[in-house]
Parts: sequence; C-alpha cells; structure tokens
Amino acid sequence: MQSTPARKVALVTGGGTGIGRAIGELLAEDGYDLAIASRSVDHLDRGARALRARGARVLTVATDVRQPDQVDRLMARVRDEYGRLDVLVNNAAGNFPVRAEDLSPNGWRAVVGIVLDGTFFCSRAAFPLLREAREASIVNIVAAYAWLAGPGTVHSAAAKAGVVSLTRTLAVEWARHGIRVNAVSPGPVRTEGTDHQLWTSESLVKRIELGVPMGRFGTPEEMAEAVRFLVSPHARYITGQVLPVDGGQWLGRGLMEFFDDRSSGGSVSPDQGGTPE
Ligand code: NAP
Repeated sequence: MQSTPARKVALVTGGGTGIGRAIGELLAEDGYDLAIASRSVDHLDRGARALRARGARVLTVATDVRQPDQVDRLMARVRDEYGRLDVLVNNAAGNFPVRAEDLSPNGWRAVVGIVLDGTFFCSRAAFPLLREAREASIVNIVAAYAWLAGPGTVHSAAAKAGVVSLTRTLAVEWARHGIRVNAVSPGPVRTEGTDHQLWTSESLVKRIELGVPMGRFGTPEEMAEAVRFLVSPHARYITGQVLPVDGGQWLGRGLMEFFDDRSSGGSVSPDQGGTPE
C-alpha cells in the first residue's frame, strides 16, 4: 500500500503558461509537489522545467478539461503518482474578443466548455482526493466581468459568472468536508496568451492602463501571491469569497476622467455643461 508523502500536492490546470505557471512556481517554493494539466505537451514540458527548477516534483498530464473522461483520468494519475491532493487551482481558460451577434455556437461552446464545464468537471473529479486531505482548498480564477458586464467577451463573462456561482455553492456544500472554495479575479495581466489574443497593440495597452486606478497591468506573480494566501493557513476561515487583484480596476474611475482631462490641457467648467460638486 502506498504511503502518504509528507509534501502537499497542488494541481493547476493551465499550469504550463502565464498566471497558472506563476501559481505553480510560488506553490513549489512553499514546498508543494505539483501536477499541471492542459492540452499542449509543449506548454506542459516548458512549465514543468520551471517548476522542477524550484525543487518540486512535477506530474504533467495532457488533458482537455472540457472532456470529463480525460479529467477523470487526470485525477487517477494524480492519485497514482502522489496518493493525495490538497489544492486544486482551476485556471485553464480560453477567450477571444467578439461582438455577441458575431459569436458562433461553436465559439460559445468552446469558451463556456473550458471555463465553466472544465471548472465543474475538475472540482467534481477532485472531490474524493480533496475530502481525504481534510484541509483542502480550491481556487478558481475568474474576472471582474463575471459580476459587471463583459462587452466584447460575452462567452467568457457568462462562463466566469457561472464559476463565481460555483465557487459560492461548492464552498457551502463542501465546507463540512474541510474543503474551502475561493476565487481570485485578476485585473489585466500581460502573458504570452493574452498578448497574442487580447493586448495586441501598445495603444490598446495604454488605454487599458488608463482604466486602472493604479495605472498599470498586474503581473502573474501578483496573481499567484493571492492564490498562495487563499490556500494557506492564513486564510483558514475564508471560503466562498472572490478576491479582486486588479489595482482597483473593477471599481472604475468615475469622474477622475474629468480631472485627468483638465491636467492634460482640456477643461470642462460648469458653464460648459460640467456639474459643480
Ligand atoms: P494563458 O497563458 O493563455 O493560460 C490559459 C491556459 O489554459 C493555458 O495554459 C492553456 O494551455 C490552458 N487551456 C486552454 N484550453 C484548455 C483546455 N481545453 N483544457 C485544458 N487547458 C486548457 O492565459 P493567462 O492570462 O495566464 O490566464 C490564466 C487565467 O487568468 C484564466 O482563467 C484567465 O481567464 C484569467 N484571467 C486573465 C487575465 C489576464 O489579463 N491575463 C485577466 C483576468 C482573468 P493549453 O493551450 O496547453 O491547453
């Protein structure tokens, strides 16, 4: 019979690239062994090299999280390799900008399948292992448009809204099993994937920065720090919560545009239709 190793184990979906890789790196530094799962063997191999460099044992499993049989096989591999699972990070996602009226049923299904189905399939399949761990934790990676609006990304917004709902529901259902379920909501972060799909020009990057009160993009490491906190004993009484890590972006900038316009040479006085405070 396999003995339970002392080191804790974390599974990160989409853990070969971007934010997922940064999450794995910090958990590796904290002494976790890792499993990472996504479709591309190349992404997984590159991610695994970075994690091993931080001293972790790493299991890579090529998996499409939309396919429940592949997800079941993934959990079986984790059980065979490590015999335990303490942390699941549902980070895998797909996204592309599209107007709602132009979105094909296949495009809708692809994104909702990865984000919403994938998060549920992985959580459901991980449940037996997480329950055995007694003090376990799931972190879902969402986005602020889950509770605001997602113009230009209706598929992802609807799917992430579903993930926020899953986060709260599973937090309540699984609290009795010692499983906490929380979410992190990143602001804009430049990664290989998003530079290719979303932040495709420097002028767009500048406009995005203007919408963030702190005036800059976040880094993958800053997102990973929030996950590190939520899975740690420091967060042992926190469940069902969504933590925005976004430089204040979701709060909006309100009338700050007015002052910025004035300081850059433009001005709007009450006489010109501006409203005095
Ligand atoms: P990324 O590098 O493109 O990461 C997406 C990951 O998901 C990739 O590793 C990809 O690997 C994996 N993936 C895609 N489809 C999959 C599938 N069907 N099955 C399994 N894995 C799949 O982008 P990122 O920016 O780091 O995004 C990470 C998370 O942060 C996502 O949940 C995203 O929605 C969220 N987020 C990002 C930002 C941002 O500005 N970057 C903002 C808000 C929220 P394969 O290609 O190998 O499958």
